[in-house]
Amino acid sequence: MPSAQVSAGVPDEIADSLVSRFHDTVGREPVGCFVAPGRVNLIGEHLDYNDGKCLPMALPHATYAALAPRDDDRVNLTSLQEEEPWQGRLGALGPGHAEGWAAYVAGVAWALQEDGLDIPGLDIVVDSRVPVGAGLSSSAALECSVAVGLCALIGLELDHDLRRRLVSACMRAEREVAGAPTGGMDQTIALLAEREHALLLDCRDWSTEQVPWDPSAHGLELLVIDTRAQHSHSDGGYESRRNDCEEAARSLGVDTLREVDDTSAALESLSDTRIRRRARHVFTEMARVEAAVDLLRRSEYESLGQVFTSSHASLRDDFEVSCPELDLAVDTATEEGALGARMTGGGFGGSAIALVPGDRLDTVGEAIVQAYRSRGWEEPGLLPANPGDGARRLR
Ligand code: ADP
Ligand code: MG
Repeated sequence: MPSAQVSAGVPDEIADSLVSRFHDTVGREPVGCFVAPGRVNLIGEHLDYNDGKCLPMALPHATYAALAPRDDDRVNLTSLQEEEPWQGRLGALGPGHAEGWAAYVAGVAWALQEDGLDIPGLDIVVDSRVPVGAGLSSSAALECSVAVGLCALIGLELDHDLRRRLVSACMRAEREVAGAPTGGMDQTIALLAEREHALLLDCRDWSTEQVPWDPSAHGLELLVIDTRAQHSHSDGGYESRRNDCEEAARSLGVDTLREVDDTSAALESLSDTRIRRRARHVFTEMARVEAAVDLLRRSEYESLGQVFTSSHASLRDDFEVSCPELDLAVDTATEEGALGARMTGGGFGGSAIALVPGDRLDTVGEAIVQAYRSRGWEEPGLLPANPGDGARRLR
């Protein structure tokens, strides 16, 4: 792998060094060390607000939190990714109190208080291997590592019901305290992921289903490419795509595009060409999610790759949310032997994925780095990503 590789690190080594950082910073031992993964969505893009399905998987790149309760009402937060620690009090963790990065952590403690849990004063130190702002959900990894740690501190058993409760608490933290809109996919996969599986998440009713996904067992690697690009129109672009989908649904007399049965007739009846293209992406992407799940269950990875590449074309041409950096990563990967590749996440920057034969991984990675270099663009990050575990206690 070229130097651009972003390593996930070895969880036990990261935990060891975090425990000793906690000791240096706080002056005592943490009660435990907890971890939650970043994520990448395999397919099902821009479907959440259309009540569709997505198929995220946990990355091996994760965020680690070491915690200990305090006897007083202070809350002290330190991140090895941030210069400034944050200090607050138990009664003032909610909206309007914590700012910046600390809002994601204090927000989780607040949301759990709101949920009726008796949260003690806290010392928390976090460390992360999830690239921040790359669309790989460093924010949910941070929230969920802390949430799992807080539950352990007060002696709750981390069963499926508690994990579901934590999804809601972490969403509240991100929405109400950090003030960032979040759909819930990120927290759901961070808390419910299982090794060697992707999670089929139905955004209509939040039901989930584990789907086998183990590329390395089939001689393949999933390569995540962090383009390091984030175009300034991404927020506005997201809003306008959402509005277009709502307009399509209104014209078709349904609440959401998920409800449409005869998609061909529906497309023909949409007279506005832009709205029709937006709806076509949504309908074809919904079909691709079903196809991808079916192919995964049958381990038909060649065809899965083709579905990925079709998804990219649809996002690029019909939904118009790609950008030159994403297109170059996808095109270079497929030219160099990837079975398929696509942008992932909201678009206008962020990350792409490529399904690559194991023996082509270095070649594909190097070709992408070279292609970026020859355009004078910032070097992309390369993350080989076998599907990882959900949030859990490490020690
Ligand atoms: P993404 O989740 O795609 O990485 P977001 O904008 O949703 O991007 O979240 C990024 C923000 O989350 C950062 O700006 C920072 O405030 C917070 N964050 C994520 N990881 C950490 C960390 N390890 N330490 C401190 N803050 C973090
Ligand atoms: Mg995020």
